[in-house]
Amino acid sequence: MFKAILIEKDEAGYRAGLREIDEAQLPEGDVTVDVAYSTLNYKDGLAITGKGPVVRKFPMVPGIDIAGTVRESRHQDYKVGDRVVLNGWGVGETYWGGLAQVARLKGDWLVPLPGALTPRQAMAIGTAGYTAMLCVIALERHGVTPDKGEVVVTGAAGGVGSTAIALLSRLGYTVVAVSGRPEEADYLRGLGAAEILDRATFSEPGKPLARERWAGAVDVAGSYTLANVCAAMKYRGVVTACGLAQGMDLPASVAPFILRGVSLIGIDSVMCPRPERIEAWNRLVRDLEPAKLDAITDEIGLTDVVATAERLMAGRVRGRVVVDANR
Ligand code: NDP
Repeated sequence: MFKAILIEKDEAGYRAGLREIDEAQLPEGDVTVDVAYSTLNYKDGLAITGKGPVVRKFPMVPGIDIAGTVRESRHQDYKVGDRVVLNGWGVGETYWGGLAQVARLKGDWLVPLPGALTPRQAMAIGTAGYTAMLCVIALERHGVTPDKGEVVVTGAAGGVGSTAIALLSRLGYTVVAVSGRPEEADYLRGLGAAEILDRATFSEPGKPLARERWAGAVDVAGSYTLANVCAAMKYRGVVTACGLAQGMDLPASVAPFILRGVSLIGIDSVMCPRPERIEAWNRLVRDLEPAKLDAITDEIGLTDVVATAERLMAGRVRGRVVVDANR
C-alpha cells in the first residue's frame, strides 16, 4: 500500500483527499519511482479543487511534478537507484502523478536529476521554475539582452513569477514585477525586482498602443494583462506568454505586432521536447541562486495538500510549495 492524493468524480461529486492505495492499482509503465518530493503548481491547484478541467480520467492521482529514485526499471536509460525528475507530459492529468509515495511512469518522460540538485531543490523549481527558465531562454533566443531595457514579470509573487525574477536579475536584467500583493514588496525586491507595479493597472481594458517601456516580458496572466503588456512593448520587444491566471482570453489589438514588430512567443512546458528540457534544467543549475530558491520555497506534507491547493487558488500562496511525499 502507498499514500497518495486521489481525485474522484462520481454521483457523490468531485472530491480530493489523502488515501491508501494498493500498489496493484498503479498504472502501466516501464519505470517505478519512489517519490521523494512533488510540488503544488497552479495546474495542480485547478485539478485538486476542481476549479479547472485539468483531470481527464478518474480516479486520478494529481501532481505534474516528481523527483525521486528509480525502484524498478524496464527502460534502457534507467536503472534501480537512479535519481530522476519528471515535469508534465500529462502526468497528473491523464496519467497518475506525483502527489503520492510511488509513481509508475514511462521512462521516456523522465530526465536525470542534475547532480548539483537535491530532489527537494528540483521540486522547489518544479514545473513553475522550469517554465520560467523556458521563458528566459526564449527571450534570449529572440535577442533580448540586458542592455535592451526593462523586462516585466506578471504574477510576480507566484511560482513562475518569483523564479523568473530571480533568474532574470541574476542574468543582469532590470526586472519590473507586477503583483496584486503590495505586502510582498520586500520579498520581490529580495528576489531582484527593481520596481513593483500594482497589477490592477494592467488588468482592465487599455489602449491598443501605450508608451513604449518593456524590452521583454514574462506573462503568466493572459487576458487584459497580456494585452496591456503587449501594448507597452518597445520596438521589436519580445513577450513570452505562459499562463492564464487572469483569463484564457486575449482581448488585444494587432497594433504592437504590426507597428512595433513585437513578438509574442508561446511557452509550453508540458510537451516541450526532451533536449530543451535538459537544457532548461542545466541552465537552472547554473543561473538560479540556491539562496533565492530557498527564499521562494515553503514545504508541506501530503496531509496538507488539499488545504494548500485551496489557498493557492485563492492567490494566498507565495512562491513555490514543495510536498514531502512521505509525511
Ligand atoms: P501561482 O498560483 O503560483 O501564481 C500565479 C500568480 O498570478 C499569483 O500569485 C498572482 O500573483 C497572479 N494572479 C492571480 N490571479 C491573477 C489575476 N486575476 N490577474 C493577474 N494576475 C493574477 O501559479 P504558477 O506561477 O504556478 O503558474 C502561473 C500561470 O502559469 C498559471 O496560469 C499556470 O497555469 C501557468 N503555467 C503554464 C505553464 C506552461 O507550460 N505554459 C507551466 C506552468 C505554469 P500576484 O499575487 O503577485 O499578483
